[in-house]
Amino acid sequence: MRIPSHRSPSRHSLRYGLTALLAPVLIAGCGAAQGAIRPEPTPSTGAPTPSTVSPTAPTSPPSSATPTTSVALSAPPKPSPSKPASSASASRPPAPQPPPPLTPTSIVRGTASGGRTVALTFDDGPGPATGQILDLLTQYGARATFCQIGPQAAADPAMVRRILAEGHRLCDHTVHHPQPMHALSHDQQVYEISAAKDMIAKAGGAGTKVRWFRAPGGDFTAENQLIAAQCGLRPLGWSVDTRDWARPGAPAIVATVQRDLRPGGVVLLHDAGGDRSQTVAALKQLLPWLIAQGYSFDFPAV
Ligand SMILES: [Zn+2]
Repeated sequence: MRIPSHRSPSRHSLRYGLTALLAPVLIAGCGAAQGAIRPEPTPSTGAPTPSTVSPTAPTSPPSSATPTTSVALSAPPKPSPSKPASSASASRPPAPQPPPPLTPTSIVRGTASGGRTVALTFDDGPGPATGQILDLLTQYGARATFCQIGPQAAADPAMVRRILAEGHRLCDHTVHHPQPMHALSHDQQVYEISAAKDMIAKAGGAGTKVRWFRAPGGDFTAENQLIAAQCGLRPLGWSVDTRDWARPGAPAIVATVQRDLRPGGVVLLHDAGGDRSQTVAALKQLLPWLIAQGYSFDFPAV
């Protein structure tokens, strides 16, 4: 009768509640940006979003075991990076709705390469099913992105290193999987993101890059997106929600992907957070199906 809810605060608080008690009150944050992080106002009409993170903000330097990310906090409003105004625009009325430029805080929901590619993403691990999932990915030559819980990565560094060694990539899924994340104080949110990044990077070993941040339950806000950007992490959403965490049955997981996936899509799956046997069973069908459909495996855009 229990109806699991991915957005329920109870689901993970039971699992992580103990460690939550140990969360430090004071937070260094990414690059120790002393008090400079400020919540980004909700973008209004068409005004350019005040860019508080340099578009060239570097990702983690691969040097030390405790990577820090330097942050440029006072970048001027940046010009559109990828859509230079063409001469044709002079002969047209003002464009009614130009595509929004991808700012450092934008949520990415597509693959890096576009075209007939797919990005598989696995949340909440590493966990007991992660090895099985890696075996399947290898069997089909697939690559995926793993959105990890910091302490779980710290507890199983061998698995994190295996993920990297087999060509997959890493994403920050916080320290305690707080839900809803937006209910936390600003400093707590900074801690959830920055400490998890450090734990995952340390587990992966020197040079490990953590490129994305996925908010628990998809609870993205302007605030946590900005924090992520200041940590050098791209907010990562999805375009296909398999709801595999609710264990709807492997056929339902497969059917959701087959129905909702479009080229360049990002698929949300889970390698931990409960019994993932249905996810594993679904993957055994989905991986050959994706290949038969002409998909190649990619990572999310950064
Ligand atoms: Zn999650």
